[in-house]
Amino acid sequence: MKNKPINEMKLYISAVPENEALARACVSRFVSTADPTVSELADIRCAVSEAVTNCVVHAYRDKPGEIYINAKLYAGRKVTLTVADKGCGIADIGLAMTPLYTTDRENERSGMGFAIMQSFSDKMKVSSKPGAGTRVFMEKYLR
Ligand code: ATP
Ligand code: MG
Repeated sequence: MKNKPINEMKLYISAVPENEALARACVSRFVSTADPTVSELADIRCAVSEAVTNCVVHAYRDKPGEIYINAKLYAGRKVTLTVADKGCGIADIGLAMTPLYTTDRENERSGMGFAIMQSFSDKMKVSSKPGAGTRVFMEKYLR
């Protein structure tokens, strides 16, 4: 079957800052099985951090919540990563994805998270529903 992953990982974690490193390490170890370059791995680690941080600080605003991570490896060296939350959601995704746009100036956020995730991936899709949550899907081809 063409669209079946050759390896898959699902991770369900609490939305707490200390789990950012956990998520990064788990996804990084999972992708390592496909023998990525050092720079590819660094990109993926960065993207995981940005996505998970967004869930902690924006989706749940430091209230309790869960983060759902799904990583898949496909034949042809394709990696997909989904990071989802059931937090506050995003009303205007286009605006939220604009580089330097942030709703959190007081904490010195730079509004570059989505831009960083975009630069990591060959394809990225953000879907969200206010009050229901947000899902970030990224796809990358390893060299
Ligand atoms: P930085 O990532 O540079 O620290 P930032 O988090 O504000 O700053 P982005 O990651 O690009 O920048 O996100 C832009 C905006 O999109 C956020 O300020 C926030 O309003 C919104 N946002 C991002 N992710 C989520 C999410 N999971 N749930 C709700 N809102 C989100
Ligand atoms: Mg961010």
